[in-house]
Amino acid sequence: MLSADEVTLLLRELIRIPSRSYEEANIADYIQTYLHKSRAETWSDRNGNVFAKIGSGHPVLLLHAHMDTVPEGEGWEKDPFGAEIIDNHIYGRGACDVKGGLAAMLAAFVHVAQSGRPLKGTLIFGAFVREEISPPSSKGTMLALSDGFTADMAIVAEPTSLLPCIAQIGRTEYKVTVKGRAAHANTPEMGLNAISKMAELINEMERKIQRPYSDILGRYSTFNIGTIEGGIVSNIVPEQCSILIDRGLVPGQSAEDSLHEIRTIIEDVIKDSSYSYELTVPYQGFPAEINSNEPVVQHLLANIKKHAHSAATPIGFVSHCDADWLITYGKIPSVIFGPGDLKVAHTNHEYVDLNEVALAAQILTDTVLDILYNNN
Ligand SMILES: [Zn+2]
Repeated sequence: MLSADEVTLLLRELIRIPSRSYEEANIADYIQTYLHKSRAETWSDRNGNVFAKIGSGHPVLLLHAHMDTVPEGEGWEKDPFGAEIIDNHIYGRGACDVKGGLAAMLAAFVHVAQSGRPLKGTLIFGAFVREEISPPSSKGTMLALSDGFTADMAIVAEPTSLLPCIAQIGRTEYKVTVKGRAAHANTPEMGLNAISKMAELINEMERKIQRPYSDILGRYSTFNIGTIEGGIVSNIVPEQCSILIDRGLVPGQSAEDSLHEIRTIIEDVIKDSSYSYELTVPYQGFPAEINSNEPVVQHLLANIKKHAHSAATPIGFVSHCDADWLITYGKIPSVIFGPGDLKVAHTNHEYVDLNEVALAAQILTDTVLDILYNNN
């Protein structure tokens, strides 16, 4: 039996070590030292990710958590690194995203390793750097995958309120620039007003973009024009105007189709004119989804039902996380699971319920044993 107090003490230490993206070295050291208790083989890769491993052969189950947090930001009433406990809630930056899940995984791994049970397969614990940043190419998980890291299945820690999530939103960012021609405002007929053309384009996009509903996510696909930039002064016809769009793709929508949809609308608007455009994709995430029959989902679900939610079913994760890269690039069936409410992630009152953290540790321990000890 895992001790809830031990998991709480571990989580408290993790919250007290600031670990903004690119500043994970201290927490990585702490985690490696903690892992030494398990006498498991531990190492860190050249990207700063920390790993530990027990057992050998297949299946290889990865317990994945990210070590970084978003910056603490402003407006906290509590110390964001104080790990204060009130009514069994522990407060601090990263408490719910995702140090609660990280503590639960770390405790589960060490518990299984210390039990000395001979596993039928391999258990890997991985604490990854740089999840909370934009370019996928700099993310710790992507770098590990491109260095050849792999597994047969994974559980990815994110705040899911202890529910198993088998699909997620594919966050995508587009940049659209309309190019016209500059002229003096007194002779507008000499110019091509890029802002006016962009206004036309925005109206067409808002009208035509498809926003299909996803049952597994329980929401519609989203389309948000987040920024607009153009023009220099009022008496020059603006030559250029750019917008940044955030698109939340749902399972069933592909990256290619979505790009094609936007390009078609732009081309319809600027055809038969002397305007030109540029369309780029600064960030491409995928609405990765796995089958609910995957063994990792079924075993996790059974233990969630046993310990936490008797009527749980697999749902979608209404955000985007590292499970995308594991599924899309690594071809690793990955289920998202952890303690904490996604709604308080990244806020200035972030907390996680300590009962949920302890339950998560128990659910993860039993799932690991079902997959690598009792079954297969
Ligand atoms: Zn997260």
